Amino acid sequence: MFADLHLHTQFSDGTYSPEEMVSQARLHGLAALALTDHDTVEGCPRTAQACEAAGIEFIPGTELTAEQNGNELHILGYFIDIRNPGLLEEIGKFQHVRQNRIREMVARLNRLNVPLRAEAVFALANCRAPGRPHVARALVQAGLCASLDEAFERFLKKNRPAFVPKFKMSAADAIELIHAAGGVAVMAHPGLNRTDEVIPGMVEAGLDGIECFHTKHSTATAARYLELADRFHLLVTGGSDCHGLSKGRPLIGTVKLPYQHVEKLRAKAEERKAAATVSP
Ligand code: AMP
Ligand code: FE
Ligand code: FE
Ligand code: ZN
Repeated sequence: MFADLHLHTQFSDGTYSPEEMVSQARLHGLAALALTDHDTVEGCPRTAQACEAAGIEFIPGTELTAEQNGNELHILGYFIDIRNPGLLEEIGKFQHVRQNRIREMVARLNRLNVPLRAEAVFALANCRAPGRPHVARALVQAGLCASLDEAFERFLKKNRPAFVPKFKMSAADAIELIHAAGGVAVMAHPGLNRTDEVIPGMVEAGLDGIECFHTKHSTATAARYLELADRFHLLVTGGSDCHGLSKGRPLIGTVKLPYQHVEKLRAKAEERKAAATVSP
């Protein structure tokens, strides 16, 4: 039995609907999956329903954008209560930040004589947590760039003229928010960040786990983080980080996390839930 604990849908920057993603999960024989859209939990109810119909265990999740020592980090939250008022209020703020950032990126493009309209991006994104991939797709759709890669390379990558940084919460705040919503907090794809020096501080802040298995982690990278997980007594997770068809082939099915890790994660979530209900 295997799980994929890192998946995106149209509710952030993936291209699959929840139903399409779940039918792919079924084709790959997954026993469990977690939805981890960026800065939102909106897709969870539909994904839960589709999973139930497909006989797949569903784990509600999110991928929060955070920072530590000036580096962008992604913190995955699992088994969270998606109706937790504090969580919804806080991610609502970050969704607002994302929407304003789209307007700012479009304004910068317009100053470069690239005639994209913010409304075109919002219409295409059709979600509360729009991001650069939606701007890239809108540029391609409007015939202003030949490909998503070109859009990122010319305009949207860090240090390119339409790049706008995001206001982010601290990693410690992201961890606290997830715990307050009864969930477990996991550092996403550490091998992509190359900022291992932040890990001890995050463990201090209550980090529960680390994503050792990820599409972009080599076997050696996975082994390094398994060793770190052991050293810091962190849970081990893994997922494909599938964004549907937006980055070439769909990645779902390329990372298969043994189910025993899901059980450990669930046990930790029970502890976190108990702690969240006793503290005010
Ligand atoms: P944002 O959260 O708006 O800054 O957008 C970040 C997202 O953009 C990531 O989750 C990736 O899915 C995507 N992304 C980042 N860099 C690239 C790139 N060079 N080409 C395609 N997609 C990218
Ligand atoms: Fe993404
Ligand atoms: Fe990420
Ligand atoms: Zn992701």
